Amino acid sequence: MSSQPLIRPEVAGLPDYNAGLALDRFRSVYGIDAVAKLDSNESPLGPSPAAVQAIRDAAAGVGRYPDASDEALRQGIGQANGVDPDTVILGNGSEDLIGAIYRAVLRPGDRVVTICPSFGLHEFGARACGAVVDKVSFPPDWRFPADALIAALAQPARILIFSSPSNPAGPAVPQADFAQLLAAVPQGALVVFDEAYREYLSDDLAFDALAMLREAGHPWVSLRTLSKAYGLAGARVGYGICSDAELVRALRKTRNPFAINALAGAAALAALQDTGHLARVVALTTSERNRVAQGLRATGYEVAPSHGNFLFFRTPDRAADFAEALRRQGVLIKAWQEEPFLDWARVTIANRSENDAFLAAIPAVRSGAR
Ligand SMILES: *Cc1c(COP(=O)(O)O)cnc(C)c1O
Repeated sequence: MSSQPLIRPEVAGLPDYNAGLALDRFRSVYGIDAVAKLDSNESPLGPSPAAVQAIRDAAAGVGRYPDASDEALRQGIGQANGVDPDTVILGNGSEDLIGAIYRAVLRPGDRVVTICPSFGLHEFGARACGAVVDKVSFPPDWRFPADALIAALAQPARILIFSSPSNPAGPAVPQADFAQLLAAVPQGALVVFDEAYREYLSDDLAFDALAMLREAGHPWVSLRTLSKAYGLAGARVGYGICSDAELVRALRKTRNPFAINALAGAAALAALQDTGHLARVVALTTSERNRVAQGLRATGYEVAPSHGNFLFFRTPDRAADFAEALRRQGVLIKAWQEEPFLDWARVTIANRSENDAFLAAIPAVRSGAR
């Protein structure tokens, strides 16, 4: 018996999703403890203690279904962002919302425009819906490819989606480029602006993206997550701020009804209120990011300019081999698996000792490779 003929060709043709290795999986596969887990852009400080306490407090209540309307959390998000809670949609991670958006909007044969290298799920879910994904590459100097995107948008497109700061590359879209890009979006197309790393943006690059999206007059979603700077990756909480309540209503039909479980919802609400914890994470990350970038450049590696909690750098040989050699020393990074970036890898910026473990492991990898 084979289930293979059952599977839609769009799904059968997709690669397996290249997720990071959970710590206990790493230990059982490699037989050693990880010394630095730098493959999933998690926060070195973990969640706010208030979020952990909120999970404890909510634990006894898990016999009941959570609030399907996500009322309290949507109110909190509305308040934190100065937006109407009725334009907020919650997801089981913002990944869940990317899929929900695609399922609500894409018809087979539709065109989705994005950048390259890019977050795999921006492409993945679109292809699963039978859409064609058109990827515009960053240029060698890593300037944001606004002109190439604008050229790509001259053809009919249903969705423009990209992250800024961009995972895995690191650059953020400058405000002037964002304005030009929005002006080039075809009538009726949806703009999905994935701001998973927005908390790490320096003041000189931050701008009011929501105001610009509103002004541009297209339907839009701004995606945010509690997984990165808020340190709640395991709780799975993401959200979208949408152009209008109608879009929220559609997304509620294509996501899971109880996407936010009771523990995750309680943790997220507490995490959003702990602005001191967030500030500590961002301060640690930005200073360590500069230090690790210097260390990589001193080794002779090319490093893309990053405004996220990670660095994208060119490896001396195939990134998959480089990452495997590091794993044998207990250091986990993410080898990129997207043409033409097979000799590039992404390393998460963690605390000082983990970052040092990463930098210290490189010379042994290089000599082993010769
Ligand atoms: C990590 C990430 C997300 C979302 O992660 P969730 O854990 O699903 O919220 C979304 N977009 C980008 C670009 C990311 O890097």
